Amino acid sequence: MKRALVLGLLFAAGAVSIGIAAVQQPQAPPVVEVEKLKDNLFVLKGGGGNTGVFITSNGVVVVDAKNPGWGKPILDKIRTLTDKPVTTLINTHTHGDHVSGNVEFPATVDIVVHENTKTNLAKMIPNSSADNQQVPAATIFQANNGKGLPKRTFKDKMTIGSGNDRVELYYFGRGHTDGDAFVLFPSLRILHAGDIFSGKNIPLLDANNGGSAMAIADTLQKARDGIRNVDSIITGHSTQMTVADLTEYIAFNREFLADMRAAKQAGKSVDEVTASWKIPAKYAGYATPPANRLKNNVQLAYKEIR
Ligand SMILES: [Zn+2]
Repeated sequence: MKRALVLGLLFAAGAVSIGIAAVQQPQAPPVVEVEKLKDNLFVLKGGGGNTGVFITSNGVVVVDAKNPGWGKPILDKIRTLTDKPVTTLINTHTHGDHVSGNVEFPATVDIVVHENTKTNLAKMIPNSSADNQQVPAATIFQANNGKGLPKRTFKDKMTIGSGNDRVELYYFGRGHTDGDAFVLFPSLRILHAGDIFSGKNIPLLDANNGGSAMAIADTLQKARDGIRNVDSIITGHSTQMTVADLTEYIAFNREFLADMRAAKQAGKSVDEVTASWKIPAKYAGYATPPANRLKNNVQLAYKEIR
């Protein structure tokens, strides 16, 4: 019985769409696509959030581990890029499409997250946005007796390695969740932003895991101002972006919040705003939001605005 239940939950975790941008085919075989950004930095696409692979002199630092069942395909793909062992795995935040593959990594791998993400990973609550997974990420860790859970946490900043191998982790506050880590590869001038900048879309704000409509623009602004020397940004689910794209995304989130303030003041209901709000035309290339995500964000903004 127990085994059947666990298998059922794992199936559900894999089958439910967890990604932000695209619905995954439930039973498609895992195909990891490689995008080379530098000789020693790659993005692995498919199966959930974008995975960063940074090859240092001593080993490989991985950022995010995708949906259930994608850990081994990630490791297999890394084997085709280098003989060096994976030493470190950083999860940008708690969501199942970024952490579930953790359970397939060797137990020797150092797993690092923001301290709030460690707390969130232990919670048996689903993400709050209806277009996101309804299976808590904690499910897969319970099914694996805690294997793949983080061993180390950071609060504001952490540095891993030195010289050209240096990796810097930053935290600037609430946004997509309350544990969104920014991961900088200073020698390459590339930043992995995770889902707090998932792409050009309205953000998924997961209030169950500390996400905030009120704070996200300020948090992104702090990251933009506080992390220097960035040429390119690996997003959570889209293509690489520039700092100018991030600046635009900050303005987009500020404008959304201002629109919500005005709508609330005008006495409009959540449903009215959800039905009428459109992405301003100046934000070229921004995807039309799924209605349930928009409603989630309107609701959250209304709750947070005083
Ligand atoms: Zn996410």
